[in-house]
Amino acid sequence: MKMLLNSKWVDRDRKIEVCDPFDNSVIDTIPASDEKDVELALDAAVRGFEITKRMTVYDRAQILYKTAQIINDRLEEFASIIAREGSKTINEARKEASRCVNTIACSAEEAKRILGETISWDSFPGGEKRKGFYYRFPIGVILAITPFNDPLNLVAHKLGPAIAAGNSVILKPATVTPLSAIKLVEAIVEAGFPPMGIQVITGQGSKIGDPLVSDDRVRMISFTGGVEAGKHIVSKAGIKKIGMELGSNSPVIVWKDADMQLAVESCVSGAFWAAGQNCIGVQRLLVHKDIYDEFKTRFVELTKTYKIGDKMKEETNMGPMITETEAKRVEEWVNEAVSRGATVLTGGGRSGALYEPTVLENVPDGVKLHYEEVFGPTVNLYPIDNLDDAIKEANSLPYGLLAAIFTRDVEVAFKAAYELDCGGVMINDSTDYRLDSMPFGGVKYSGLGREGLKFSLQEMTEPKVVCFNLPGI
Ligand code: NAD
Repeated sequence: MKMLLNSKWVDRDRKIEVCDPFDNSVIDTIPASDEKDVELALDAAVRGFEITKRMTVYDRAQILYKTAQIINDRLEEFASIIAREGSKTINEARKEASRCVNTIACSAEEAKRILGETISWDSFPGGEKRKGFYYRFPIGVILAITPFNDPLNLVAHKLGPAIAAGNSVILKPATVTPLSAIKLVEAIVEAGFPPMGIQVITGQGSKIGDPLVSDDRVRMISFTGGVEAGKHIVSKAGIKKIGMELGSNSPVIVWKDADMQLAVESCVSGAFWAAGQNCIGVQRLLVHKDIYDEFKTRFVELTKTYKIGDKMKEETNMGPMITETEAKRVEEWVNEAVSRGATVLTGGGRSGALYEPTVLENVPDGVKLHYEEVFGPTVNLYPIDNLDDAIKEANSLPYGLLAAIFTRDVEVAFKAAYELDCGGVMINDSTDYRLDSMPFGGVKYSGLGREGLKFSLQEMTEPKVVCFNLPGI
């Protein structure tokens, strides 16, 4: 596939292969861009903004509605690209494609709600005779950098609101899963968006990242990815707006009165969705000691039924990790935990990039599997005996995206909702529940700012005040 630069789909002699991690077959290639391409993208994006900022809300919304329609009409094609280039099974990929339709359609709706307010100028002496208001204006060039794990919908979470707000965009999709993103841009252009308003630059983030993020023509960086790349980008960015959607190691509390079946099913799915490569994937399960043994038995039983393997088969529950290197990293982390006293209850095996869904207990504090984001198909069980300790444990690490609790007790639920230190608390769902229009983001190292269409639009627009001094009235 090609990059979109300066209104043209272009290729380059130097290419990067995009491979299916299940069998390493080459699906396609993408151009490996260089600094000249970065300059081309930046220059075109500035010119693109001169076009996009003059588009009416009606036109922006119509283009987004049409884009959503195009994706909906080709849902199976989009799902198949997601499944082939990444880790998701075909069923997981279908869900992502249909969420993307919703994300783009909601962006169209939100475009119509970019509103300002009047201002009470006379609320302080000296403001008499002033009348005025503020509008919200697009920011300018937005640099969108996206990760591999939701290769379509997380791109839509940046392009939809950026277009809705009237910005121009430079998209740098994940190097390993760029194809769904490029397909989405093709749909946006087909729907009538001026191609000069959107640049797609492909290649290694570590190579083209610095000249992109440090350039003053970029007015906002909207980044989703890991903490390490996030820290590096912040250190290079200079003075511009920054949105950061980073990782987590999500805690879920299962209280003694939980609906056992609901908790087991939700948490198994939440731990192993997309082979655990999910920023809100369940990593730490804090289970009340009164129900610990029953929960453990049922959780392990259900995990053992998981069929892993070929992503394109309807019956497969879990596919491979994104690369064999990543699967080996998880294997090392599990081995480290076991060498320090952890017990593997099921799983722990690896074949190439396939890592078995793995459940552990007795995982000590000082190992990576406990305190880092695992971003793989493993989950740790910990017995707890009171709510204060469970909340303290949940809050003890430097991440805070979503947290969750299973309980029927409204007071327990409220206490958890108020005291868990994170961007959202799910009650009677695992952390792996997200509505695309809800405010989404984290505290601590999990991020800066919020996504979720209405909230992204706030971040991607700036207020501009208009004040009339009218001495004659
Ligand atoms: P990553 O940080 O390795 O890469 C993310 C993107 O950044 C890729 O496009 C990559 O090419 C680019 N990149 C890497 N180094 C860069 C640099 N120096 N300058 C500019 N760009 C650079 O992340 P990943 O492995 O693709 O994704 C996994 C991570 O993403 C996990 O930590 C996960 O939690 C996080 N994530 C967060 C959310 C969220 O919404 N909070 C959602 C999905 C994934």
